[in-house]
Amino acid sequence: MKNRIELYLGDITKLQVDAIVNAANNTLLGGGGVDGAIHRAAGPKLLEECRGLGGCETGEAKLTKGYNLPAKHVIHTVGPVWRGGNNREDELLRNAYRNSLKLAVENGIKTIAFPAISTGVYAFPLERATKIAIEEVQKFLSDNTSIEKVIFACYNEKAYECYKSLLDE
Ligand code: ADP
Repeated sequence: MKNRIELYLGDITKLQVDAIVNAANNTLLGGGGVDGAIHRAAGPKLLEECRGLGGCETGEAKLTKGYNLPAKHVIHTVGPVWRGGNNREDELLRNAYRNSLKLAVENGIKTIAFPAISTGVYAFPLERATKIAIEEVQKFLSDNTSIEKVIFACYNEKAYECYKSLLDE
């Protein structure tokens, strides 16, 4: 299990993996943060494919090609907006991780990188979100042998340290 989970500090769009996960919004038509970075790096064909998907419910996931990215695919998922914690935020964030991993397995994806979903503009508290991310990935990997590597892509030191200390526990 331990060697199937890796930490990476930097820009997720640089990773050469079978799929990177996008923390998208319900429209799937692009946005700021990691979503903007992924669309910029993938090029306009990504938006074209996304237009045909009809959006995505919070906690669900949809697959596209990676176009100009080094990653072969993008799994677009939508995390919850933090509204104080009593609006199913935890459950919806768990769903986003689990449904992304399910979609990966269905498509033969063996290496996958996640950003810290919902912890940017959507304001989910970092430590709480990180615990959920790690728990869901560990649970999934313990029941599944087809996924070889899950990378948590941390965009800054603070996120990296948070993942590192919780993974070391
Ligand atoms: P959300 O709307 O789900 O909160 P954001 O894109 O605002 O999505 O933020 C999610 C996380 O992605 C944040 O922790 C942010 O620091 C991180 N992030 C932003 N750009 C990148 C990038 N290029 N690579 C990896 N992570 C990124």
